[in-house]
Amino acid sequence: MLDALFRGAPRGLELRCRGWEQEGALRCLLNNLDPDVAEDARALVVYGGRGRAARSPEALAAIVAALERLGPDETLVVQSGKAAAVLPTHPDAPRVLISTAMVVPAWSDEDSFRRLEDAGLTVYGQMTAAGWFYIGTQGILGFTYETFRAVAEAHFGGTLAGRRVLTAGLGGMGGAQGFAVTQNGGRALVVEVDPSRAERRLREGWVALVAGYEEALAAHLDPGGPGTVALVGNAADVVPRLLAEGIHFDVVTDQTPAHDPLGAYVPRGLTAAQAAGADAGDPDFRAAVYGSLTDHVEALLGYRRAGAVVFEYGNGIRTQAAAHGVDAAFEIPGFVSAYVRPIFARGVGPFRWICLSGDPADLRRSEDVIMEVVGTDSLRAWIELARQRVPLQGLPARICWLGLGERDRVALALNELVRSGRCGPLALGRDHMDPASVASPTRETESMRDGSDAIADWPVLSALLNAAQGASWVAIGNGGGVGVGRSIHSGMVVVADGSELAERKLRRVFWTDPALGVARYADAGYPEALAEAARHGLDTLG
Ligand code: NAD
Repeated sequence: MLDALFRGAPRGLELRCRGWEQEGALRCLLNNLDPDVAEDARALVVYGGRGRAARSPEALAAIVAALERLGPDETLVVQSGKAAAVLPTHPDAPRVLISTAMVVPAWSDEDSFRRLEDAGLTVYGQMTAAGWFYIGTQGILGFTYETFRAVAEAHFGGTLAGRRVLTAGLGGMGGAQGFAVTQNGGRALVVEVDPSRAERRLREGWVALVAGYEEALAAHLDPGGPGTVALVGNAADVVPRLLAEGIHFDVVTDQTPAHDPLGAYVPRGLTAAQAAGADAGDPDFRAAVYGSLTDHVEALLGYRRAGAVVFEYGNGIRTQAAAHGVDAAFEIPGFVSAYVRPIFARGVGPFRWICLSGDPADLRRSEDVIMEVVGTDSLRAWIELARQRVPLQGLPARICWLGLGERDRVALALNELVRSGRCGPLALGRDHMDPASVASPTRETESMRDGSDAIADWPVLSALLNAAQGASWVAIGNGGGVGVGRSIHSGMVVVADGSELAERKLRRVFWTDPALGVARYADAGYPEALAEAARHGLDTLG
């Protein structure tokens, strides 16, 4: 019976639930746990170390059952991956409200959280794992592409042509790195400790070769070699070794799951499976983890001193190293403060949508509508590229970067498309990494102009606003990206089924959600946001 939960989302236009909002939530949740989408579906791990969609298989089954019976005037309340209650609300209210990994701040450290998790009281949900809107490696691709493009612009005259990039981690998010580097003209060497993850990325087309140290390095150094090479090894061994051997790289970064050092980062000398089975309380294991992490960061600092462009890629590795004696760790900049901030400051972020019918033709039709509505060359170029190169995982989905004034127009046009009968229902939403929806002082909100890095009112306000506006589901969580206690973030999704109700919800949510992003950055004094606010006549008071 539980097996049925791990076969991906239902397809087609036949409803299993009592309406498309509930059906959309059910399909997106089961899509998160599609074995083609999730990193380890049976363990309920969607991506990002131990980012889970539900607390246990039984809790998942109970959520599914609740969604199947949920009325159009009821709301399911989900507490850290477990259905808590179905309460009477009204059709314009959200169908599901989700809060994950939230603990009182003084208890929000790794060890206290682990105790609460071991006691079965909570679960780590990353961002879109517990927010039921993960779309596989593609979900981060736009972000990663934009980051490497900004790196190219800041340091290499706008292209990575002739440049070599060293990074690590070929997981759900990290898997996108090579693609983003090669699309910017460069070549990437990616260190991955788990051969099965590297092979998975090879099968999916994200890397072109998987090999051990000598063969991988030779292929990478060969100017005619493959664009993205996976080197099977531990980054804590390989990065210091490459540095010691004087192998030059132009750019060095890392996407190992350092945000969860004792639960997901693999220390030297252990396989991924051995690390997963280790006792987090074992002093030898802890010493191995923190010794590996600090050596890894020392090597990143060594590359920085050697003249490479080095940045932390949102995995909290500097925080971990600094807490274990690497005083210089924060000399390495974070990727958002160094490269992505000007995009956020305009209120622009990653919009995404999922075709609930499962029909790839719906994706094509919806992309056509978006290209028509937005009309920019850059969007057209991205969609064309994605159509050719991005493998679909689970339900057909797409991501693109949109801001205030674009998202609501796109959302309403897509609802019209569904209403016309030419496309099945769509789930429209965004990542939690958006201008207002995350506070993460070592990542999205690092080095804010006004010092508001740790102010978490914004993601809470974002969730409240989206619930008030009637998004189909709204999620809030703790610890996405950088680990528990280090970020607060929120997500939302609205199901476009062509109905009048959907139109009301879409019109409201996709205006005020990006407007809050502009207001957040205007409040922090960013000229780009102040200009955007003025352009749209926003009543920002900060
Ligand atoms: P994941 O858990 O799916 O994958 C991590 C990969 O790193 C795995 O394949 C694992 O085998 C490998 N790994 C672990 N320890 C290693 C080591 N010592 N050496 C080499 N490889 C090792 O995680 P993910 O979803 O890919 O995310 C990676 C990290 O990036 C996380 O910390 C996550 O929070 C962060 N993240 C970054 C962004 C971003 O935009 N940059 C977005 C989301 C998440």
